Amino acid sequence: MIVSPKILSVIVPLFNEEDSIDHFLQVIIPILESIASKYTILWNILAVDDGSTDHTAQKIRRWVQQNPHVQGLVLSRNFGKEAALTAGLAHADADAVIVIDVDMQDPPSIMEEMVRHWLDGADMVVGVRSARENDTRSKRLTSNLYYKLYNKIAQRPIPANAGDFRLMSRSVVSAVLQLHERNRFMKGIFSWVGFKTEYVYFERAERQHGSTKWNYWKLFNFGIDGLTSFSTLPLRIWTYVGLLISMFAFSYGIWIIFRTLFFGEVVKGFPTIMVTILFLGGLQLFSFGILGEYIGRLYQEVKKRPLYIIKEKINME
Ligand code: UDP
Ligand code: MG
Repeated sequence: MIVSPKILSVIVPLFNEEDSIDHFLQVIIPILESIASKYTILWNILAVDDGSTDHTAQKIRRWVQQNPHVQGLVLSRNFGKEAALTAGLAHADADAVIVIDVDMQDPPSIMEEMVRHWLDGADMVVGVRSARENDTRSKRLTSNLYYKLYNKIAQRPIPANAGDFRLMSRSVVSAVLQLHERNRFMKGIFSWVGFKTEYVYFERAERQHGSTKWNYWKLFNFGIDGLTSFSTLPLRIWTYVGLLISMFAFSYGIWIIFRTLFFGEVVKGFPTIMVTILFLGGLQLFSFGILGEYIGRLYQEVKKRPLYIIKEKINME
């Protein structure tokens, strides 16, 4: 019986990465070649151009001419990394895929260990950053706090310091693609689907070329997306807060009636009234805001717009 070799596909999302792509492919191609010959597997690289406005797409085309293992998918505009990854996963025709960033912050050298775990039976091999020395203190602190909060309230925890860098078997990819939500918090989705998971630890290097597309404001909003995607606790909490406040208000009301009946009316109490009105007003606005967050997401989901639009396929059947 002849067993056809397994296929490994490396998916790399690219947004304005004309400065990074050459170095990335120069490093990763020899690594993949050596993995392929060592474990007799086939490989390809699927570069997803997430609507770059620079020469990223031209660079992909040039690489495709040099190396038939390289394939390209060009999106019609910038849809964001999560959508670009989803596009890559949907078009990868492989037994396993590895998702990696172009900027060399995810070291390609550990791909071999990932492949080994996969061939040993793991369905998902997650790259975990063991050191974040290159991040600022405040970034490390906020990210730690965020993971703590997320894991407290989400249905399924995500490992702290795990990024998108990971290997997934065909079954995991199919499962991930079954989650049709528009709001794609990939880390949450990856952990939600389950399967046998292994971890590989690495130290995260500094970005080699170009610049990060993230800033604090974007990260903050990304964090909110993650929480609202995988937990409804922020909504339910207001039921409890409201219940507590009503119970307190009710007893206090009874006390006021009692006092007025037996001791007459008192006019004092302006500060108390002001403080109460302001406090409750603020609380109400805040809880409306949270309701709004969920309603906005409902609106996005019911429209069922596609997650991405493909403009061009390069070297793909
Ligand atoms: N990326 C993308 N679309 C975007 C933003 C980023 O495809 O809208 C890609 C980017 O080209 C890179 C990866 O996602 O390959 C990670 O981006 P970046 O290094 O900016 O993020 P960070 O490492 O700072 O989280
Ligand atoms: Mg990066």
